[in-house]
Amino acid sequence: MNLEEILKERCNKSIKDCTNEELYYALLEMTKKMAKKKESNKGKKKLYYISAEFLIGKLLSNNLINLGIYDDVKKLLEENQKNLSEIEEIEPEPSLGNGGLGRLAACFLDSIATLGLNGDGVGLNYHYGLFKQVFKNNLQQETPNPWMEKESWLTKTDRVYTISFGGFHLKSRMYDIDVTGYENRTTKLHLFDVESVDENIVSENNIDFDKEDIAKNLTLFLYPDDSDDAGRLLRVYQQYFMVSSGARLILDEVTERGGNLHKLYDYATIQINDTHPTMVIPELIRLLMERGILMDEAIDIVSKTCAYTNHTILAEALEKWPIHYLEKVVPQLMPIIYELDNRVREKYDDSSVYIIDAEQRVHMAHIDIHYGYSVNGVAYLHTEILKNSELNHFYRIYQEKFNNKTNGITFRRWLLHCNKELSALMEELIGPGFKKDAMELEKLSDFVEDEKVLDRILDVKTSCKRELKDYLKKAQGIELNENSIFDIQIKRLHEYKRQQMNALYVILKYFEIKEGKLPSTPITVLFGAKAAPAYIIAKDIIHLILCLQQLIEQDPEVSPYLKVVMVENYNVTLAEKLIPAADIHEQISLASKEASGTSNMKFMLNGAIALGTMDGANVEIADLVGRENIYIFGESSDEVIEHYAKADYVSKDFYEKDPDIKRAVDFIVSDELLKIGQKENLERLYHELLNKDWFMTLLDLKSYVQEKERAFKEYEDRRIWAKKMLINISKAGFFSSDRTIRQYNDEVWKL
Ligand SMILES: *Cc1c(COP(=O)(O)O)cnc(C)c1O
Repeated sequence: MNLEEILKERCNKSIKDCTNEELYYALLEMTKKMAKKKESNKGKKKLYYISAEFLIGKLLSNNLINLGIYDDVKKLLEENQKNLSEIEEIEPEPSLGNGGLGRLAACFLDSIATLGLNGDGVGLNYHYGLFKQVFKNNLQQETPNPWMEKESWLTKTDRVYTISFGGFHLKSRMYDIDVTGYENRTTKLHLFDVESVDENIVSENNIDFDKEDIAKNLTLFLYPDDSDDAGRLLRVYQQYFMVSSGARLILDEVTERGGNLHKLYDYATIQINDTHPTMVIPELIRLLMERGILMDEAIDIVSKTCAYTNHTILAEALEKWPIHYLEKVVPQLMPIIYELDNRVREKYDDSSVYIIDAEQRVHMAHIDIHYGYSVNGVAYLHTEILKNSELNHFYRIYQEKFNNKTNGITFRRWLLHCNKELSALMEELIGPGFKKDAMELEKLSDFVEDEKVLDRILDVKTSCKRELKDYLKKAQGIELNENSIFDIQIKRLHEYKRQQMNALYVILKYFEIKEGKLPSTPITVLFGAKAAPAYIIAKDIIHLILCLQQLIEQDPEVSPYLKVVMVENYNVTLAEKLIPAADIHEQISLASKEASGTSNMKFMLNGAIALGTMDGANVEIADLVGRENIYIFGESSDEVIEHYAKADYVSKDFYEKDPDIKRAVDFIVSDELLKIGQKENLERLYHELLNKDWFMTLLDLKSYVQEKERAFKEYEDRRIWAKKMLINISKAGFFSSDRTIRQYNDEVWKL
């Protein structure tokens, strides 16, 4: 480590005399140099993890930890009256992802590097990321989220490709971010960018731009608004640009290593993260044919190289592109896609497994399943639902391809970095082994009856709550009461995740307090969520929550006992502050709809107790900790699937037969709220809940309220609660992404 030398070179100052900004850029330079010096695995076979999203979060602290120099740097800075946490604040967070799927990809890269596997990430370099969320008049607004500065974690490479679209070509250049493993090797995240991209076509205050100017706009935003043809076409341009660049990189690297393209699968394996990168399959076939391999063999080679991860059973999220889009954007792929479809039609007379449907749409997931060698779900329940219902027709053909890989999280970021106090306490109790082998957390079970340890765990929680309070006060002007229960729901905003159910609970609690029934401990309900810009109802739900926040804030009868807070621009940085401070975390999706969830794992590891449905990985958490250490409510996935099959759920029935439900729903359009909020938004949400409620909020509302009250009551006995916390932490080891990646490697990639 030579921070002083770097500073001398950069600005000829000593640490003491530097600004935090100067120190940040010097640390960036130092860390990048150290990462470059580390070897990566040079084995024969290499994994390429292709994903439209990599939600990597800030990198400085994480890299310092993984390089093993965090404590030394911190100490050196302290000796010079500098504070590392303040320096970390300078770093902008790249918003190269939307939610769980992108964060998973980032955790996986960390584990691949930590396990020393030969594998890189491949994606796109979005200049403005998803978007930055700002609240105005209690509504979400979207603005660009620039994160690339003159100096950043990106390193420009010499790798340049020409990518052809129907009628024109674009230059693609590769940029790299080094991914450090925990006290091990490094690997790389390759992000491709269009050379002709032009940030100036976007204004500062909104995310509108000319959607047809592909040469300038292709890598500006992740998931551009797809509510019109131009937006949807832009997504196809992005996808092809990503996979064509990636496919060329893969073939070039294999060739550079002296590999034989006829045996591509011995040199490369490609994990397709959700359907966005699916075109890598026909593109690789096309490129192999360009290099002289016949179609039959090319299809066979690619089918042994690509593997697919499914992340959702929501039908609207399984991409289906109209043929005429693909004909316009990638005419060179069409002969191959038709051939792939023909081969399916010749073999199976079940139209539900065709690639091209009767409405002339291409089902991307169907390409992945027929022409990939592995199909995996991301939690036990999710994979079972894929096999038995959603993808049952495929499962019957390809039983051997289906497998489960329950998601995981990197404990470096989600414990060692974000909760240093808890991590230190764990180390004191069970030694440092858990940092490399997460299953060692089980040793904590020796302390579940140790009152001193239980009290210390509570102290750590209080200290994290205080830290969150200080941070939110400074960053967003929000006041928290650290002596209240922190009940947290942070995740993308989607009706299936049911933030609206949590909001209805708040309304019911508001009534109770107004009527004089006060909670024993004050309650703080925290939300964090971005809604997709074109998802109207999701934005209405944000509006409702923000209106409730204001209503309660302004009511001196209620505000001492209940507080609602929606943090602005929820991202990884905020997650790292919110999660350690949580007492209860809400995982309340409609059963069968959340494929896995990963925030549930982060919270569990940080000693928060789940209030949730039997959905996604909640099922596995409940199995591990036992029913007395988790709060479960609501109908089961089997029951829910049956409601859909019979189409027998009618939300209005629940509204009409239960006066509490009726009163809570009616409050959305009450005079009190209409005074604060927008009539159009609140009425639309009210009618949605009453007449549609596709994700069955009112079905589970009663059991939700009941279980939540039980959780709040049990919170009162602090020692019993601390025991639950400790048991949750001790069982979290299974959810390390190191375990997940080991399973992918042993059962799928075989590197
Ligand atoms: C972990 C994480 C997610 C995923 O949260 P879920 O509750 O599992 O959907 C989304 N966004 C960020 C910033 C995260 O860190």
